[in-house]
Amino acid sequence: MLIPKIETQAQADIKLYQEGKLKGLLNYLQENSIFYQRFFKTHKVDISKINTLDDLVHIPTTSKDDLQKHNMDFLCVKPKKVIDYLTTSGTSGEPVVFAETEKDLQRLAYNEYISFACATARADDIFQLMVTLDRRFMAGMAYYEGIRKLGGAIVRVGPGNPGLQFDTIERIKPTALVTVPSFLLKLVEYAEKNNIDYKNSSITKAICIGESIRNEDFSLNKLGQRIKDKWDIQLFSTYASTEMGTAFTDCQFGKGGHHHPEMIIVEFLDENEKPVKPGTPGEVTITTLGVEGMPLLRFKTGDICNHHTEKCECGRTTTRLGPVIGRKNQMIKYKGTTLYPPALYDVLNDIEGVENYIVLVDKNTIGTDDIQIRIGANNISEKLEKLIKDSFRTKLRVAPSVAFYAPSEISKMQFPDMSRKPVTFVDNRV
Ligand SMILES: [Zn+2]
Repeated sequence: MLIPKIETQAQADIKLYQEGKLKGLLNYLQENSIFYQRFFKTHKVDISKINTLDDLVHIPTTSKDDLQKHNMDFLCVKPKKVIDYLTTSGTSGEPVVFAETEKDLQRLAYNEYISFACATARADDIFQLMVTLDRRFMAGMAYYEGIRKLGGAIVRVGPGNPGLQFDTIERIKPTALVTVPSFLLKLVEYAEKNNIDYKNSSITKAICIGESIRNEDFSLNKLGQRIKDKWDIQLFSTYASTEMGTAFTDCQFGKGGHHHPEMIIVEFLDENEKPVKPGTPGEVTITTLGVEGMPLLRFKTGDICNHHTEKCECGRTTTRLGPVIGRKNQMIKYKGTTLYPPALYDVLNDIEGVENYIVLVDKNTIGTDDIQIRIGANNISEKLEKLIKDSFRTKLRVAPSVAFYAPSEISKMQFPDMSRKPVTFVDNRV
């Protein structure tokens, strides 16, 4: 199995390695980035004084707002060097444009190559891609290039369409799926309705994107467990974003997403932008390494995660990221409790009879948050409503208001035009 040498070195050596890369990045930004030239000047940052990772705290963070307001000022190359334009998904505000050079595409391919290899992928694997390669989406293309680099094979089916997915599994005999994990449940449901022997298919594993399948202690969460109970394939979590251009992917031991020190510097910050200790939730803040087009320095992703620094059983010594607990700006203050939407999803995913759902949050007149959960169910009953309320009270100690719809209506709300991922959270507070 391929493990880059740096990923098994002592943490102190990894730090030194990254510090060397950081110097190069700071010089590159000073020379080529309109945004960071202005930023260093405004904030009186003397890059010659930034020598270690610990010195990073002397540089203010960069936010999504900076990217939205000054988008193309981040571009460090002449436009003719750009090969691929793409955007962020826009789930938290206006989408941001990213521009990739040839070197950036090679970097993305390398990143997915080592990430897929981390998830036990081999050259004889055939991957069925159940994500889009279009719609200005970085990840689909990155997976494609990464699997090519690994020497594996790919069949591009795209999202949805269970019939075509199973037709492909039957014809091509792929060994692995790349998918949003909740779609695996849709596949199982389709297979059961159509008498497809999915349990004895060629599929042995799935790389799961976009949704967490693990709890904080790395055990499978409700979604992960529901999949595993129905279809006993190996599930790998992966966490990534366009801004990072990097993936944190599970190894075969499933103890969090492994950090690849060649690709990115990662910090975990508290509310006051001070680093938190391992095991304490912090905002994932990243500095990209080796990016030519639009590198980022101390970019706050908005994702709240725990991190772990003990050596993994796979031999890697790199930091591991726990599942995303929530988005910082999606934090809900509800009846004296602080919640993130994934905690609500976890309760809903465990209730038989709940087909799909969408969570809406509003500010009420006294300035706290109201939650309304729209649930798609085929058999709406008082019993189901009571079961839902009781589950929330037991697991989260609060019971949000609930409204019932036909599953098809919820589906329509989840997939507005141009969405690349299902929308399960609607924030009306902003
Ligand atoms: Zn590992």
